[in-house]
Amino acid sequence: MSAIYQRLSTLSFTRPSGTEEERKAANFLANEITSIGFKPEIEEFSYERNIPVTATLEAVLEDGSTKVFPVTGLIDSAPTPPEGSEAEFFYLKSFDEVSLSKIQGKIVLLHDRLSHEEYRRLRKAGIAAYITTSGTVRDTYENSDLETGRFRDNLHDLGAVPAFTIRLIDAVALLRLQPKKLRYTLRLETQSLISQNIVVTVPGTEIPEETLIVGAHYDSVPFSKGAWDNGAGAVQVVSLLEHLRDRPPRRTVTAILFGSEETGLRGSSSYCFQHQATLSSVKAMINVDVGGSILGKEIIFVTATEQTEVWVQSLLKEIGYAAVTTLKVMSSDSAVFSDYGIPSISMGQGAPRGGGYMHTRYDNMDLIVPQVLEAEAGWLATLVDRLTDAVVFPVPRSIPEKLRKDLIDYFGKRRSIMATLPPSEEDKPLPFRF
Ligand SMILES: [Zn+2]
Repeated sequence: MSAIYQRLSTLSFTRPSGTEEERKAANFLANEITSIGFKPEIEEFSYERNIPVTATLEAVLEDGSTKVFPVTGLIDSAPTPPEGSEAEFFYLKSFDEVSLSKIQGKIVLLHDRLSHEEYRRLRKAGIAAYITTSGTVRDTYENSDLETGRFRDNLHDLGAVPAFTIRLIDAVALLRLQPKKLRYTLRLETQSLISQNIVVTVPGTEIPEETLIVGAHYDSVPFSKGAWDNGAGAVQVVSLLEHLRDRPPRRTVTAILFGSEETGLRGSSSYCFQHQATLSSVKAMINVDVGGSILGKEIIFVTATEQTEVWVQSLLKEIGYAAVTTLKVMSSDSAVFSDYGIPSISMGQGAPRGGGYMHTRYDNMDLIVPQVLEAEAGWLATLVDRLTDAVVFPVPRSIPEKLRKDLIDYFGKRRSIMATLPPSEEDKPLPFRF
């Protein structure tokens, strides 16, 4: 069996942010890196969050009877008063003006993760609380886990409300009951977590003062073994180190395995904050998040100039690697680096409908195959070689205006570093002369 597949098999266990299991995964990866011949540094960091300790939801029917539904509270959302709250129930199928005119003071059921603009409209309309759904209508209690979602950091400037997650099957049951009101309680407690990044520096042989960062997160969400998301990326970075040991790069490579990506890009945020002073030497950041499945296409997110996307496309054609590219911000650790003004190229894998189980118990080794992992690792090695060995670095250190705006939206004006950075200076084309 190939080494990369073997490593991923060993790493395929639940390893959520700040837990013993995450630490165990970090130690395993650090040992693998040591056995390759490098000295990994384990950089610890801590952060706080408000986790739900009590979350209840009860439907009050027309005849006064009640029915309880299992729910989880959203991490970092707002508590109810200790005695709980009661509000009328509304199913917000879409953010149309008719629906929005009817939700004042109500607890609303909705489906998708909220964008900043959507949440702004809910707040303006005066909602009391909201419920999101998890899973599919085919779930049973036995074959599904009720996830604990997170109230995203970029929504905090609008003020949090109590927020819950319910199984989609229970949302259907709740709608059938047509409850008059819902009673709900949410109690939160501040929890302090310790997590860690693994950092390895491979000094450049000729241009050591210029650095390429290559990273992948190794944590998983609770309930999930995270083989696809993102044990696959973590072991690809380990393979890359094996490659760089045998073929030292001209520029410096800093490889980072990030902890706590799943709880809000904590590892990459901590790294950038701690190493701010040296980020000016970083020419670009390469990230891998999701891979190794027998199903689905390779996707490359380019958070850099159009010229960079064309350069990536040309390289794909030259070496014959099949992938689609898009000029976008990927919701992963690469976004943090780009928010600091560093261009990033981020690899992921899209699954066909019904063939991807991100953030569930079904993200395990079942669909992972060595051939895909090896092909992805091969592409990563080529990409890194070309960047580190180029005479002139092919990726301009510039983030175009549209992506700057996307980054500020993604992180929220108050937290985004990009919001404080001046637009990158670009050389104007020189007039052509004979
Ligand atoms: Zn991921």
